[in-house]
Amino acid sequence: MKSLADIAAQLQGYDPQALAVPQVDAFLAQLVQPVTGNETVSIADALGRVTADDVVSPVDVPPHDNSAMDGYAFDGSQLAADAPLQLQVVGTALAGKAWHGSVAQGQAVKIMTGAIMPAGLDTVVPQEFTRPAGDDRVEVPAAVLKRGDNRRLAGEDLKAGRPALARGERLGPAGCGLLASLGVPTVRVVRRLKVAYFSTGDEILSLGEAPREGAVYDSNRYTVRAMLARLGCEVIDLGVVRDEPAQLEQAFRSAASQADAIITSGGVSVGEADFTKAMMRQLGDVAFWKIAMRPGRPMAVGRIAEGDKAAVLFGLPGNPVAVMVTFLAFVRPALLRMMGCRDTAPPPLLRARSLEALRKKPGRTEYQRGIVDTGPDGSLQVRTTGNQGSGVLSSMVQANGLIVLHHQQGNIAVGDPVDVMMFEGIL
Ligand code: AMP
Ligand code: MG
Repeated sequence: MKSLADIAAQLQGYDPQALAVPQVDAFLAQLVQPVTGNETVSIADALGRVTADDVVSPVDVPPHDNSAMDGYAFDGSQLAADAPLQLQVVGTALAGKAWHGSVAQGQAVKIMTGAIMPAGLDTVVPQEFTRPAGDDRVEVPAAVLKRGDNRRLAGEDLKAGRPALARGERLGPAGCGLLASLGVPTVRVVRRLKVAYFSTGDEILSLGEAPREGAVYDSNRYTVRAMLARLGCEVIDLGVVRDEPAQLEQAFRSAASQADAIITSGGVSVGEADFTKAMMRQLGDVAFWKIAMRPGRPMAVGRIAEGDKAAVLFGLPGNPVAVMVTFLAFVRPALLRMMGCRDTAPPPLLRARSLEALRKKPGRTEYQRGIVDTGPDGSLQVRTTGNQGSGVLSSMVQANGLIVLHHQQGNIAVGDPVDVMMFEGIL
C-alpha cells in the first residue's frame, strides 16, 4: 500500500492546489487496489457482480450443428449455380427431437429452427425460398442459396475448454444469460464492495426533520446512495453528521471499521470553518486538493484508519451537482477498480454539435449539463440545460449527458463539435 506522499512523488508536476483532471485520475489509479475475497452466487443473483476467475466453458455452445431457419436440410454439394434442385422430403427434424434416418442424394429432411442437422447434411433452404414440386417433393430455385447457408455450427458461440468470460467482467444481462447458456448454475464473483457515506454540515436536514431557517434538505446522501446502488455496492448510511469533533470522529471511525470506502460530502472547501478537514487529517493520510475543474473544485482523498482496518476516503464537495460530477469522473472509476473490474473507464465520449455558444476559460475542465438528441441532418446535437450553478440539481435531472470542455479548450461557438459523456443508466 503506497502512502499518499509516495504517489505524489511519482506524479509529474503534482500540485495539490492546482491539479488537472488527468492527474487526479492517475493519482487515484495508484491509491486504490482491488479488494480480496470471493463468493459464489447463483446466476439469478449475478447481475452487476464481477467475475473472480476466468469462466471456462465446459461445453460447446451450441452443442450440435443446427438449423438457423425453418426449411429443408440437404447436402449442399448438390447445388448447381444455374439449375434448380428437386428434393424428396424423407423425414422431419424438430428442435429437441432429432431425425436419425439416413438421407441419400436427392433427398431432404424438413427441419425447424434449432433442430440438430441430420448426419451428412450441411445446408438449409428456408421454407419461403422453396416451391412445391408434387407429393413429398420441394424445389430449390437456382442461385438463392450456397452450401452451408442457414446452418449454425457447434461451438460457434462458445468453445468447450476456452474462456467464455474473462475475470473482472461486470456481469450485465448478456453476461448472466451467457453463463446460463453454459449450463452452470453458479459463478464465483468478487465480494461486494462496502461503501459508507455521510453528509456534513450544520445546515443539512435529514428527511423527516422540520424545515428551519437557513437549512436545506440533504440531497447528496440520496444521490450518492443511488449511484452506489447502480454500481452494486453494499451501502452503509451514516446519516448527517454535525460539525462537531466527537460526532465526526465517531462517524469516521465507524465507517473505517466497516467499509472499504467512505464517501462524505461537504466541509472540504477552502473557507470551511469546520472540523471535517481537521478530523480527516487526524484520523488518516489525506490530501486536500483544488482541482482545475467546474463544478467540483475542492476534494479530499486518502485513507482513514481504524485499528488495523483502513478505508479509502473520497471527501466530495457539498454542492449537489459537484457531488454527482466528481462521483462520475473520479469515484466511480476508483470504485470499479476496487471491485475488481477490468474495465474501469468512464463512459465513452461522443461528439455532438453545440447548439449554443459556451463560455469557457482554458486551464480547467468543465462539465456542463447537456441534452443530446439527433438533429435534422441525423447527427448528434447538444444544448445546455440553462443555469449551470453547481447547486442546481434539477439540471442533472433534465440532462442526459455532461458536455466535457477539456482543460485547454476555450470558448465554443454555435455549431462547434464538443465531447459529451452520456450518463443514462449510470447517474
Ligand atoms: P460546502 O462544500 O460544505 O461548503 O457546501 C457547499 C454547498 O452545498 C452549500 O450551499 C451547502 O449547503 C450545500 N450542501 C452541502 N451538503 C449538502 C447536502 N448533503 N445536500 C444538499 N446540499 C448540500
Ligand atoms: Mg459545509
